[in-house]
Parts: sequence; structure tokens; C-alpha cells
Amino acid sequence: MATLLILGAGVSGHTAAMHARRMLGKEHEVIVVTPNANWNWIPSNIWVGVGKMPVKKVLFPLEPLYKRKGIKFNQALAVAINPEGGDGHTRPFVTATSTRPGSEGEEIQIEYDFLINCTGPKLNFGATPGLGPDNGYTHSVCTAPHAAATAEELKAAIARCKAGESLRFVVGTGHGTCTCEGAAFEYTFNLEYVLREAGVRDRAEVIYLTNEATLGDFGVGGLTFTQQGFQTTSKLWTESLYRERGVEAVLGAHCSKIEPGVIHYEQLDGSTHEMSYDFAMLLPPFKGADMKAYDAAGEDISAQVFNPAGFLKVDANYAAGAYENWRATDWPKTYQSPLYDNIFAAGIAFAPPHQISQPRTSPNGTVITPSPPRTGMPSGIIAKTVVMTIVDRIKGTGKPAYEAPMTGMGAACVASAGMSFWNGSAASMTMHPVVPDWQTYPKTGRDLKGTSGEIGLAGHWMKNLLHVLFLYKAKGRPFWWIVPE
Ligand SMILES: Cc1cc2nc3c(=O)[nH]c(=O)nc-3n(C[C@H](O)[C@H](O)[C@H](O)COP(=O)(O)OP(=O)(O)OC[C@H]3O[C@@H](n4cnc5c(N)ncnc54)[C@H](O)[C@@H]3O)c2cc1C
Repeated sequence: MATLLILGAGVSGHTAAMHARRMLGKEHEVIVVTPNANWNWIPSNIWVGVGKMPVKKVLFPLEPLYKRKGIKFNQALAVAINPEGGDGHTRPFVTATSTRPGSEGEEIQIEYDFLINCTGPKLNFGATPGLGPDNGYTHSVCTAPHAAATAEELKAAIARCKAGESLRFVVGTGHGTCTCEGAAFEYTFNLEYVLREAGVRDRAEVIYLTNEATLGDFGVGGLTFTQQGFQTTSKLWTESLYRERGVEAVLGAHCSKIEPGVIHYEQLDGSTHEMSYDFAMLLPPFKGADMKAYDAAGEDISAQVFNPAGFLKVDANYAAGAYENWRATDWPKTYQSPLYDNIFAAGIAFAPPHQISQPRTSPNGTVITPSPPRTGMPSGIIAKTVVMTIVDRIKGTGKPAYEAPMTGMGAACVASAGMSFWNGSAASMTMHPVVPDWQTYPKTGRDLKGTSGEIGLAGHWMKNLLHVLFLYKAKGRPFWWIVPE
């Protein structure tokens, strides 16, 4: 009997657990360690955060599903990996701290034969003083509870506008190294939509504050694609959307401090500014889960296993150096740890070799560059690919590891720009590959045939359909595996 242990049950962890359970015989164990009782369809947190969707529609409890499927569920936070065993264990093991009500804080140790780290991002609000809903003054939609609280604050702000006040709403990134600009973009235009719907748009100034150097960068260096026979860019396309909706954009910005009602930020030219605000939803930068790694002797080997931000090092080239040296081949293919061949990472938990967007630093030395996004589709595809490799190893097929490099993989992204069945809209983008490959596609970095952009009502219907389909898939309903990642 082999044990596959999966840390995290978000997009990549849950995908991995469900596919592993389907592909592996019942004689093998699939165990999940994750701190939350519920699964969250994160993309729809945007709609929760503007009060357009009740929070219960984006959550469902994992334990009953896992019980039905034969997946062992541990509600706990993984804190350490011992890949060589030790401390009385002959097999590798993970130490976790229980987060289950009634046994919080209890330590558990779980042995494994294969491990997939799918712990996603740790929301690093602490990187900017005053950022975030818990110890700061800004709102967030990164978790379902954050989004629900943000919706309440927004309701109160709209009531103030209705009472005659003029307010400033700021949406964007709360640090120079944030990622997930697509989510900030979506929240901006959903907010703008609900302000119009509430009849208070004339009393609301909406500002998009971002670390992107140009609009439409989205942390992937922007897109070039063909529309009606002409080449255009995501920059041109998004700029016209901002103009059309009356949203002002502040670009290349690093938030250095947030005070009640004031955002302090620096821009790429080195200038520093203060901006007053009445309502702010600013994303945090991400770091890896705060896990440690120890060898058989108990020596701390975290620096070898993880990168400085806490993401698990895999088969990437981490020595590429300057932007000019970056190559498609820097990106990982198998997501296997170079130190331990039974450890893998999927989704945001793997350490990328470098950014995707061109790196930029202000004259003061402040890094103001989007970190590389690893969105839902690549996260799910990578998770399934890693599971296929592990299943082969468990079955002893002798086949080489499966590969899913982000430089060879396409992705589709539908960014909501207003939630209404008849008047809503969304920006639908496809890109192939996700990470530009300038050696294969020297002109635009991507295949023009697989890269596209379109905004309109059909995109909103598509976004709704994705909500329904992915919850269907995540809940393991009949033939769930037919729905692509
Ligand atoms: C507001 C918002 C909107 C988004 N919209 C889109 C979209 O429209 N389309 C898209 O493709 N992507 C979108 N994304 C990005 C998408 O959510 C991520 O790409 C995806 O969730 C990454 O998957 P993951 O498995 O790496 O991380 P997650 O899905 O975040 O999962 C991480 C899991 O690990 C668990 N965990 C954390 N620490 C530990 C630990 N120490 N031990 C055990 N478990 C741990 C967490 O509880 C969680 O279950 C959005 C993101 C945000 C924040």
C-alpha cells in the first residue's frame, strides 16, 4: 500500500486529491491536510465582495465529500516536512497542527510515500504596514469571509453616497510585488457596475492603483492578439475600457504604508505620493506557507527545499539571472523537487524561476513588478499532471514523469466586469502559452492563433457557466472528471 499525502485543498490540492482517488486503487491511501473545513470557489469571491452573491454559494464542506470518495481528511495546518523520516519514523512524514474545532493546536504527524505541496499563497498583508482587513485599514476578497465583510463595508459606503457624500474608492494591489492583477481588475469593474446600478456613480470616484507598468499587463507581460485581421494588445483594449467606464489608473505603484484614509505609495519614477480614500480593496502580496523542512538528523534544510519566499523548489532553472537571459526552458516541467524525487508542488506553491512581466525597479531600489500569476487553469492542469506521474510510480510502470510546462500550456481567463444577466460584461482572454516563449514566437512571445481577447455580455454568461461547472466538478458529481481543469 502506498500513501499519497496532499497538503492543501484549494484549486490544485482538491484537483489532485480527486484525480488521485479516481486513478489509484482503494488499496492505496490518499490523505489531505488542509486548515479549512470548506472548499472555496475563489473566482466568485469577487461577486460576494460586491454583494452580488451570498457567501454560501462559493463554499461547500470538504469532509462529507472526502468521506464518500474515500479520501482521508485532516483539518490541520502543515508546519514541517521531514523528507528523510527521523524522530522515530522510518518513512518521510509531515507535521501538522490541528485547526479542527475542539482539537485546535494538537500536533499530528502523517507518514507518506509521495507528497504534493498544494498550499497555495499565504496572504502576506504584513508586507505593507496598515494593509488588510485584520490588522489594517483596507478590504480584501481573497477569502470568502474577507469578501463577505467587504460587501458589508461597500454597502455602508454606497449608503453614504446615497446620503449625499462624495467618496473615493481605490482598488488594486497593496504592494509592488503583488500578483493576481486580474482579480483587482475584476473587482474594479464590478464595483463600478454596482455603483452605477445603485445610482451613485456621480458621487463615486473610482481609482485603480496597480503595480503593473502598463494597463493590461496582468502579470503576464500583456498580450498581443489578432482582432478582425489587425494585431492589437491587451494594453490598448483595457485602456479603452478604463476610459469608457471613467476609472482613473495609477500605474507602476508600490504601496509603502496605509493609514486610516491615506495610502502612501511610490511610483516607478521614484516619486512618492499620498492618496486619500474612503473605501479601499487592495490585494496583498503572496508568500509560501510557512513550512520548515528537516533532514534525518533534524537539521533545518528549509533553505534547500524552499525558496526565500517559502515556495517549494522544483525542476526549474533558478539561476537564469537578468531578464535578457530568461528562456522558456527556465520553467519547470515535472514539478518534482530536485532533492527528493517523491515530493512535488502544484499551483502557487511551486517556486517560479522568475517573473513573467519584465522586472522593474524604481530609482530608490524598490521592486515594482507583478509576481508571476499561477491562475486556476494552470494550477489544476499541473496538479493532475503530477498525480499522473505519481500514479505511474506507484504502479511501477517505469514511464518518465509527465510534463506540463507553463511555456507550453494555454490558459483561458474570464475577468468579470459587471454581474448582470442582461447588462453584465466580462473580458475573456485566452493565451498560448501562459509564459511567453520568445525563442519559438519571436514577434509576440505567444502563438497568435491561441491568444485572443474579447469583452462583452457573452463573457459574463461564460463566467457564470464556469461558476456552475467548476462547483459541479469540485463536488465530485457524476462524470465530474469530464469537465476540464
Ligand atoms: C479574488 C481572486 C479571484 C481570482 N479569480 C480567478 C479567476 O477568475 N480565474 C483564475 O484562473 N484564477 C483566479 N484566481 C486565482 C486562483 O484562485 C488561484 O490561481 C488558485 O486558487 C491557485 O490554486 P492553489 O491550489 O495553488 O491555491 P489555493 O486555491 O489558494 O489553495 C491553497 C490551499 O492550501 C491550504 N493551505 C494553506 N497553507 C497550508 C498549510 N500550511 N498546510 C496545509 N494546507 C494549507 C489553503 O487553505 C488552501 O486550501 C483568483 C484569485 C483571487 C484571490
